[in-house]
Order: sequence, then structure tokens, then C-alpha cells
Amino acid sequence: MSTLYIASSNQGKLRDFAAAAEVYQFDVLPLPDLKNIPAPDEDGLTFEDNAWLKAAYYSKFSPEDLIIADDSGLEVDGLNGEPGVRSARFADDVGFAAPTEASTDERNNRYLLERLTAHKGEKITARYRCVIAAARKGEVLITAEGSVEGEIVQEPRGTGGFGYDPLFYLPELGKTMAEIDLVRKQSLSHRGKAFAALLNKLPQGQF
Ligand code: IMP
Repeated sequence: MSTLYIASSNQGKLRDFAAAAEVYQFDVLPLPDLKNIPAPDEDGLTFEDNAWLKAAYYSKFSPEDLIIADDSGLEVDGLNGEPGVRSARFADDVGFAAPTEASTDERNNRYLLERLTAHKGEKITARYRCVIAAARKGEVLITAEGSVEGEIVQEPRGTGGFGYDPLFYLPELGKTMAEIDLVRKQSLSHRGKAFAALLNKLPQGQF
């Protein structure tokens, strides 16, 4: 079985990729020694910029391998597309105060709901977007993207997934992303779609 290396230590993303890769019968593993590599500044203005810079940067540390990096996030229409590329740091960017035991994901979700208080009772449309870049020896070979449309609910629902999943509602399923299993998530999610598109574009024998 071959292995594709992903430059991410986000456990939620790694679980998503592992579930997606199972379908294609190969492994997706974190880049070896990732914890000892200083992270680059994710200062791009788009998901593509950030995926590109992460893949190019991390692939220099493992020149024999094909490295992938994803940049992803939530765009809420009622907030002019925020948090967008700042999704991981949404609450931190404004120093949002929350109970000290709250995780980053919980703080982001609380801050999102606070920002939406003016929209209570309205349908709030949103989407997740993901761009994945594949690079070798510092050079990006391919990028691919995927998205999924949904709505933001006012109360978190479900215990699966990560990030904004308990607030991201899929109207066709009547469930939030945190209420569906990982295999299903990959079949319809932004990351699952971007990954499938990337594999389609990758020439045979690339990794
Ligand atoms: P990145 O590491 O800069 O790509 O940040 C991605 C951030 O977007 C995550 O930390 C989450 O807050 C959010 N996000 C991206 N994909 C998902 C997902 O599949 N579920 C929930 N939140 C997500």
C-alpha cells in the first residue's frame, strides 16, 4: 500500500483524510517529524495561497515524498464570508474571552454564534471550502478544491467531526456535520471532494 504524507497536525483533518484514503486503499500519514518543523506564517489572502505556501514549504523537509497540505474554512454569507481563511484563528484574532477550559474549536463556535446574534431566527447560509496542494521538493505540482453548502444552526448538535461541524447543518440530511459518520462526511464534504479531485489530477505512480 502506498503512502501520501499530509503536512498537518490537526487531528480532525487527519481523521478526515484517513477515512477518505481508505476508499482508495492507501495511507495518508502526517509528515514525519512535523512537530519539529517551525510552522510557516499562513498569511495568504485565499485558501489556495495558504495551501500552496504550506505544501511548498513542508515538501522541502521530505524531498523523496509527495506532500499534500490543505487550507480550509467556513464562509458565512451573513458575515460577508467571514471567518474564511481566518477560520482556525477566528476567536483568537479578536481576543474573544471564553471560559479558560474551552478548546479553540469551542471558542470559535461561541464567537461565531455571538457574531450572528443579530440574525437570530433567520436562515444563515454558509459553506465550507477546501483547497489541497500537492508538492515535491518545494514545488507545487497540483491544486484541487471542493466545497459544501449548508446553514449555521443556533445550538451545537452532535459530537463527531471537529471545528465548526456542530454548527454546520446539511439541510438535505437534516443533520449537522457533527452528526454524521466519517465515511459519509468524506463523501460529501469540501475536503472529501477536494481530495477526490486531487487524486483524479495526479498522474499514476506519483507517490
Ligand atoms: P487551516 O488549518 O488554516 O486550514 O484551518 C482550518 C480551520 O477551518 C479549522 O481549524 C476549522 O476551524 C475550520 N474547518 C476546516 N474544515 C473543517 C471541517 O471539516 N469541519 C469543521 N471545521 C473545519
